[in-house]
Amino acid sequence: MVNVYHDKDADLSILEKETIAVIGYGNQGRAQALNMRDSGLKVIVGNIKDESFNRALEDGFEAYPISEAAEKGTILFILLPDEVQKKVFETEISHHLKPGKAIVFAHGYNIHYGFIQPPSFVDVILLAPRMVGKFVRELFTRGSGAPVFLSVQNNASGKAKEKTLALAKAIGAARVGAMEISFAEETELDHFSEHFIAPVISRALILSFEVLCEMGYTPEAVLLELYASGELSEVAKAMATDGIVAQLPFHSRTSQYGQLIYAERVMPDSEKEFIRQIVREIQEGTFAREWQLEQYSGFPVFKKLLDKAFAHPINEAERKLKEKVSINIR
Ligand code: NDP
Repeated sequence: MVNVYHDKDADLSILEKETIAVIGYGNQGRAQALNMRDSGLKVIVGNIKDESFNRALEDGFEAYPISEAAEKGTILFILLPDEVQKKVFETEISHHLKPGKAIVFAHGYNIHYGFIQPPSFVDVILLAPRMVGKFVRELFTRGSGAPVFLSVQNNASGKAKEKTLALAKAIGAARVGAMEISFAEETELDHFSEHFIAPVISRALILSFEVLCEMGYTPEAVLLELYASGELSEVAKAMATDGIVAQLPFHSRTSQYGQLIYAERVMPDSEKEFIRQIVREIQEGTFAREWQLEQYSGFPVFKKLLDKAFAHPINEAERKLKEKVSINIR
């Protein structure tokens, strides 16, 4: 049975004497810092001196270089890009850790694969929003929140769980539900979404665009039909709120029949073996090692893939469509 916690399970008073240092004022850092401050916590920011640093100052935070924030803070939120966390942790954060302090991650990656090995005398916490930072903030300001996966990897203080629940409440997650799973499960599920679900969607759309254009359909019309109208994202929203099957009646009966009759043809049960293979690669750390190597060698493959993606004709078709049709679904 999975444990899911809500506001009633958390007591913010356990954080009264804590100074939260949000290290990395980017997508997640800004959203979580603002939410925690609005929840009454003492929050400071640590960032490199760049636009994000200035934004933290403009937002009214005390902002410091990372090392100084790590020294001043008692609960350190490590909200840096995953691939830079190890280096920054080792050079600017680890020597400021003391018994009683806690470190909080928004993704289990560096702990799960062992790239960061914190000392045993600090609490190690996971609070991983299932939402991009922008909406972690927007949902909070609307009185709601984004759900999180939470976990305690190390309970040095003896109060790590209580602190974790209070932090989940402070960022707004416990308003909707904070689900307790392990660092390993969070990391592996997150990577599965990124290695299978997201590519299935984007590859299906790009290949469809190529084929339909080759077969004489109008590129702008193809885009509008496939995803650019926003219908696809509305359907995805309905899947989240109503259910994959429960949202079917929102479509015409012709559409429902077409979707159901083609589903198994498009992706037969035999594809499960491929899905298992992707999960195994994640579990065995194949991807994590490949990504580490990529970083050490200056991102050669990543750069090539990005160049290829941005050179695809779909980008030009999207630009042309935007000149003619203004979509505003945000
Ligand atoms: P960002 O890419 O937004 O970066 C966070 C901050 O780190 C920025 O201020 C950035 O500065 C700074 N930074 C970049 N490079 C360095 C460096 N070499 N040294 C020091 N600081 C640096 O991170 P995210 O918010 O996207 O991700 C933070 C964590 O949250 C990650 O663990 C991620 O997996 C997790 N997460 C992210 C989600 C999201 O919404 N993106 C969703 C759920 C979890 P600058 O602005 O100048 O680049």
